[in-house]
Amino acid sequence: MKIILFGAPGAGKGTQAELICQRLAIPSVSTGNIIREAIRGGTELGKLAKNFTDNGKLVPDEVVIGMIKERLAEDDCKGGFILDGFPRTVPQAEALDAMGVEIDVVLSIEVNDDDIERRMSGRRSCPTCGATFHLQNNPPKQEGLCDKCGAGLVQRADDAAETVRARLAVYHEQTEPVKDYYKSKGKLREIDGTKSIEKTTEFAFAALGI
Ligand code: AMP
Repeated sequence: MKIILFGAPGAGKGTQAELICQRLAIPSVSTGNIIREAIRGGTELGKLAKNFTDNGKLVPDEVVIGMIKERLAEDDCKGGFILDGFPRTVPQAEALDAMGVEIDVVLSIEVNDDDIERRMSGRRSCPTCGATFHLQNNPPKQEGLCDKCGAGLVQRADDAAETVRARLAVYHEQTEPVKDYYKSKGKLREIDGTKSIEKTTEFAFAALGI
């Protein structure tokens, strides 16, 4: 299955992507994680991307499209994948079509802006493996440490309140139109993402028929 997880930053895409990919045994591909890895590694691409991510802006289409093309060509993506955080613009969605990638379902996790702002202030992320937690809704087993790899958790710089508001503005302007793009193709399924993580997973599995 080839699935796109869609939604505002902080809607729970990363969390649900992990649960769905465990269930379907397919990889979850997050452009945000690929970009953060490039920034940590100090690559040319990372240096270029940092200026955009730090300000809550989108990394230019051609850069992200190049990254995703490379990643989807890897062997583990042959049997399907979940895209988390891509496509974020209509040209990115068109590029996916041009690559000949046939998406089965676009699952949109719906959360309003007020809830997003509240959530983001409690989000903590693992700088090593990219796993995300929440101080109240999804705390790590050991305070401050990643359940998966044991690294110390941090608040992402772009999860600061002001940057979150900038990211939400970018989402409404540039990313929301992608929903109509897939709606017109009959691929969009919307679920309520304002309840618990478990409830959202239940809605997600039902919408995917898994
Ligand atoms: P995320 O972890 O998905 O919220 O992504 C973090 C940041 O990486 C975003 O705020 C963007 O600056 C950048 N980014 C991630 N995915 C994309 C994308 N598909 N297109 C452009 N920029 C992206």
